[in-house]
Amino acid sequence: MIEEKISVRARGIKPSSTLAVNKKAAELAAAGEKVINLSVGEPDFDTPDHIKQACIKAINDGFTKYTDSSGIKPLRQAICEKFKMDNGLDYEPDQIVVSCGAKHSLFNVMIAICDEDDEIIIPAPYWVSYPEMVKLAGGKCIFCRFNSDYKIDIEHLKSIITKKTKALILNSPANPTGIVYTKEELEKIAEIACENNIIVISDEVYEKLVYDGKKHISIASLNDEIKKLTVVVNGVSKTYAMTGWRIGYLATEIPLAKAIANIQSQTTSNPTSFVQKAAMEAILADQAPVRKMVEEFEKRRNYIIKNISPFIRYCRPDGAFYLFLKIGQMTSTELAQKLLTEEKLATVPGDDFGAEGYIRISFACSMENIKEAISRLNRFAERIRK
Ligand code: PMP
Ligand code: GLU
Repeated sequence: MIEEKISVRARGIKPSSTLAVNKKAAELAAAGEKVINLSVGEPDFDTPDHIKQACIKAINDGFTKYTDSSGIKPLRQAICEKFKMDNGLDYEPDQIVVSCGAKHSLFNVMIAICDEDDEIIIPAPYWVSYPEMVKLAGGKCIFCRFNSDYKIDIEHLKSIITKKTKALILNSPANPTGIVYTKEELEKIAEIACENNIIVISDEVYEKLVYDGKKHISIASLNDEIKKLTVVVNGVSKTYAMTGWRIGYLATEIPLAKAIANIQSQTTSNPTSFVQKAAMEAILADQAPVRKMVEEFEKRRNYIIKNISPFIRYCRPDGAFYLFLKIGQMTSTELAQKLLTEEKLATVPGDDFGAEGYIRISFACSMENIKEAISRLNRFAERIRK
């Protein structure tokens, strides 16, 4: 039986629930159900045309062969410029590794740092893939509680650090809550990481999606000590509506970047050659399409906050495109199930994000769908109140 041959490690891995709900919603829609899909987090905009053209040109120019496994040098140089301009961070191209999506960059980091049972701190509510990646890499997940602002409970963080703590995952702006850490909060976290010599894996994929004129701050930019302990992870999926293109990247100190480059050279070889040219165009060209997209997300977020029922408890998102919410006292699964069957709304249960009782909705869908979805959510909240 082939089933018995599957490794214990692989058996312990769940499929991504965000992608699973998305698939289910698509199947229901294909079967004629009027389901509004609020599950997956991917921009509903098309990839800007100049980026597509750069890719087509690369293919026509024959740029279709293996590349440097860390990514072509001009792309890594472009990423260095981006870090300098957006985050005030100085990196050299050798400190950058480009991979097949930020998900892949994150997994590469886990494989590169985890020895058996090394502890990785994951602050709840967290993105569904972090624990599974840590487990796959042989590490141990240590979850940190959240405070009333849905941010890291600092006292709890201090109490769970041990000699085996290797790293802390930080995600700001965050999936699933949309919280954005302030400079003061980041300073506190950096201080703890430095005092305890812990790596910070800073997932900044939503950095451009911040609202109310707020600005994302990279923890690595606070001082040199924390920069040396940080792995900054970013990508083009969310910023440029390029989820299917699969380009992510990281920046860190040279020894770790080299270890990750070695892992990648033995596993995926390189991120797709011509897509690297498209990513370069995305990063270097005029950023007007990004600003337009952010404006639209902000409009949607504002609509939701203004119109959502007072019987729904939620985390006010300052960034990303999610709303993390709770209605009544149901478990996350019950709530998501009821919303799907009674209101035809596809949402992701919050227990997979480490927050029982919550669900996540994505507002990366049309305003028309958002208006209808909020009206259904409100109707549901008022009905179960009675
Ligand atoms: N980090 C977070 C927090 C995310 O929500 C996502 C979305 N999939 C990723 C990383 C990975 O993005 P990608 O692999 O598409 O670059
Ligand atoms: N990050 C997105 C989400 O949370 C995309 C799906 C995934 O990769 O999990 O919905």
